[in-house]
Amino acid sequence: MTKKNIIQKIDAAGLVGRGGAGYPTAQKWMAVKNALKYKQIASIVVNGAEGEPGVKKDGYLLAHKTEEIVNGVFLAYQFLGSAKTKKVYFFLKAEYYKAYSKKIKEVLKNKKYKLFASRVEFFSKPETPSYICGEETAIVNIIEGRRPAPRLKPPYPADSGMNYHPTLINNVETFYNVSLIDKGKYEGKRFYTLTGAVKHHGVFCLPADMSAEEVLRATNNYPGFDFFVMTGGEVCGELLRSDQLQAPVEGSGLLMVFDDKKTDHKKLLDYWFKFYETESCGACTACREGTYRLRELTSKSEYDKQMFNDLIHNLEESSLCSLGSSLPVTIKSYFENIN
Ligand code: SF4
Repeated sequence: MTKKNIIQKIDAAGLVGRGGAGYPTAQKWMAVKNALKYKQIASIVVNGAEGEPGVKKDGYLLAHKTEEIVNGVFLAYQFLGSAKTKKVYFFLKAEYYKAYSKKIKEVLKNKKYKLFASRVEFFSKPETPSYICGEETAIVNIIEGRRPAPRLKPPYPADSGMNYHPTLINNVETFYNVSLIDKGKYEGKRFYTLTGAVKHHGVFCLPADMSAEEVLRATNNYPGFDFFVMTGGEVCGELLRSDQLQAPVEGSGLLMVFDDKKTDHKKLLDYWFKFYETESCGACTACREGTYRLRELTSKSEYDKQMFNDLIHNLEESSLCSLGSSLPVTIKSYFENIN
């Protein structure tokens, strides 16, 4: 297989990143490759941070598909070139680091990985903040020994990441899919985490273009009671009514079902605001102060709706990273669709 071949295969498969943003994988790989025309050294980061609460798919893949994940990373290393790819980092959620780093090291003992394995390093994600430590520029900061906070983009890591060198950062599931594509086994599927008021919790592999309703039915989880659903992530997702489930599941591929009658809506709102307030890295005023003010406002029975809308609007317009800009999606979809 030539290096050119793998990028054509990824492009033809239409693979997008499975970390949540859904960026086309071939474009990202080519951006790093192009940056190497004028820079000497590249790095690869395997993002196994899985910071969105409730999402379990990367843990499942690390446990059950270790060889394929390593093979996918190796293909990226070959594509960028062993002469230039000096470091390969496995950046894993702390519990995944404890459970699976040995397993990955065992796979790396294969003699075909000899030089590649000598360039691999492992990092355990800090426990707090959890969500933001999975953001790609925050990961770069953490590995470099800096404060765990996102960087202003651009420049993007593909052009200027680790120590200002081009850096390819892909999610665990993305590397797994690259391996399948190389072997001609990729079928356009993705991994969904089913949680909340469902009969069958867990991780399910199904077509990536399935609607939320189809995923619930295919996993035998379609509720027989009044319900609504959080799609994408458990906190940073979109809230939809049971008659709004025709679009494919975005983000991290999570579906969380709520039993409408059994859900304490006030507690739910409070949980979301507390999460964002706790997870904010504090760099942006709208996120640092706004999440706190939103929780304070909504804790009262009567509150200033104009101020509420202004705070949400400021988060939408001025957040540096996806944490701050996700809150308006969750809250607006809740008030527009559910309550
Ligand atoms: S939006 Fe929030 S979490 Fe993201 S950089 Fe700004 S303060 Fe930090």
